[in-house]
Amino acid sequence: MSSRRWKEKQVREPSWMEQALCARVGDPDDWHPTLETPQAVEQVRQICRTCPARIPCLEDVLTRRTPLTGVWAGTTTRDREHLLALVDAAQNTAA
Ligand code: SF4
Repeated sequence: MSSRRWKEKQVREPSWMEQALCARVGDPDDWHPTLETPQAVEQVRQICRTCPARIPCLEDVLTRRTPLTGVWAGTTTRDREHLLALVDAAQNTAA
């Protein structure tokens, strides 16, 4: 991740980010590969699986509903698009 992107992420930094492993482990660029292929994201997904901030991280990225790219809480951009589509479909069914 470029330093600009990392700063943008931190500008909106909620308190859970104090526990974020991605802020302390490895290269922040690893969470934002150019192509989010399984091979490119597997290493950071493993880190996300052990991150104490994983749940609030996922809640945060899903509730923003903005096109944030990269790996958040072990999910790729495509994973989140799929999750949000499922939520929308469930809400439409319930309405
Ligand atoms: S779950 Fe992953 S992306 Fe989210 S704060 Fe932790 S290490 Fe960072």
